[in-house]
Amino acid sequence: MQANLHNMDISYILNELGEDRENYFNAVSPPIVQTSNFRVNRVDDLRQLFEDEYSGYLYSRGLNPTVEILRKKLAALDGAEDCLVFNSGAAAIFAAVLANVKSGDHIVSVEKPYTWAQRMFDVILPRFGVTTTYIDGTAIENFERAILPNTSVIYLESPNSWDFRLQDLRAVAELAHAEQITTIIDNSYCTPLYQRPISLGIDIAMQTATKYIGGHSDTLGGVLTGTRAMMKKIFDSEYLNIGSGIQPFNAWLLIRGLRTLQARLGRITQTTTSILQYLKQEPRVESVLFPLDEGFPQFELASRQMSGACGLISFYLKTGSRSQIVHFCESLRHIMMAVSWGGHESLILPKCASMTDAEFDPANREHRMMRLYVGLEEAAYLEADLRQAMDKTL
Ligand SMILES: *Cc1c(COP(=O)(O)O)cnc(C)c1O
Repeated sequence: MQANLHNMDISYILNELGEDRENYFNAVSPPIVQTSNFRVNRVDDLRQLFEDEYSGYLYSRGLNPTVEILRKKLAALDGAEDCLVFNSGAAAIFAAVLANVKSGDHIVSVEKPYTWAQRMFDVILPRFGVTTTYIDGTAIENFERAILPNTSVIYLESPNSWDFRLQDLRAVAELAHAEQITTIIDNSYCTPLYQRPISLGIDIAMQTATKYIGGHSDTLGGVLTGTRAMMKKIFDSEYLNIGSGIQPFNAWLLIRGLRTLQARLGRITQTTTSILQYLKQEPRVESVLFPLDEGFPQFELASRQMSGACGLISFYLKTGSRSQIVHFCESLRHIMMAVSWGGHESLILPKCASMTDAEFDPANREHRMMRLYVGLEEAAYLEADLRQAMDKTL
């Protein structure tokens, strides 16, 4: 893969890049190469593959031609040299972090990262003597203060998928490079269409493909992009050893998802803007959180660093009881209650799902927090659903 992919047309990437149609009957849609192993003709070819499995097709736990098409497209979307695709976002996070720490190392992570990143930092890595300091990533001084002589990784998530807190990616990358620390970002919220962390100096960009890339709530996947050397390092050890690479059929579903990524994001961005306007003037909503809303605390940084925002809106309901929130969620007729986001269907998730009535404190705004994911439905249809559920319960 070449390095000068920075300004390739998105249409070219989504429709053509990586596809050798003349090699498969000129089929527009690529074949699913559903094979576990690949035949070799010469013993010396085998020897070459044993020495460097990143150099060709040997076994589908390593490289596979269907996955190869996806890798090329995702690397180009991020403006990165190379890419690895995993069977889930969580697996991608695990491999990226594990490949860059050793016993006794220290990680600086933004506070409240994605659940399974935090589990890795809190439960798994301490068993190997790797410790983590969580910081408020909104100020660069907090990174400076937290870095220790043994810090090897800075873990970012910008924006966070609940409160949308951002980090100044260029500033963090500069600081980390001066200290020879590897930076990893969870870029799931934005996708490469709305934020390209590699171009801001971040070493490894991770995103879940389960959300916007798949786009239809029917498959999981996870992506890492970075230099060829970094991807090879992860491939040679964690990727092959954990065996969590994406399967050919799931890779094919993600290639299919990519065809419409730009169209879906454009539509979702438009609808999200309408729903945001509705929620902002809805008297039963105390306030809204959305990174490209002028009232957002880091609006200036978001506008500078991201070229768009879509899909997720958090808001605080005016209510004194958990049961009203429960009733509101259960009164929605079309918007489903479910985890995840990025699919065709709109979703609601109440923060208070993880607490009991007795634990609920209406004075704590977080307890009244709701996360709405806006899918591909009509704005008026979603607004009417939210309004009727509020009429009934609040
Ligand atoms: C969903 C999600 C992940 C994990 O992705 P999976 O594909 O579900 O493993 C990681 N980070 C964020 C922000 C997510 O929303």
